[in-house]
Amino acid sequence: MDETRLERLCIDKGMKMTEQRRIIARVLSASEDHPDVEEVYRRASMQDSKISIATVYRTMRLFEDAGIVERHDFGDGRARYEEATDEHHDHIIDVKSGRVIEFQNEEIERLQERVAREHGLILVGHRLELFGVPLKEDEK
Ligand SMILES: [Zn+2]
Repeated sequence: MDETRLERLCIDKGMKMTEQRRIIARVLSASEDHPDVEEVYRRASMQDSKISIATVYRTMRLFEDAGIVERHDFGDGRARYEEATDEHHDHIIDVKSGRVIEFQNEEIERLQERVAREHGLILVGHRLELFGVPLKEDEK
């Protein structure tokens, strides 16, 4: 199998790539959602039944510290992960179904920079999660 972007990043960061770390990196690269550790563990187990949840926890921590995965808190008490990319996006969470929608909004980005500036700072990062419930038919 070809090396994924995430595996390449790990190697570039000088990480020793064990087979289990490779599997976890590939699981994350293949994920289009925002799995929690249990879900990453479930997916990784399908490729290597000997992987332990402790290994998944440690590896996620390692990847997070290296800045190659991002950890999110979507309000349900479970840390969720996704591969860090150059393309920035924020999240809006449907609290009824748990569905996570990714979005980009230039106005919000500019506004955040302005707020930082008004407080004498240059923005270097932010976290933004919006929470909502579905509109009723007559509210659309
Ligand atoms: Zn995302």
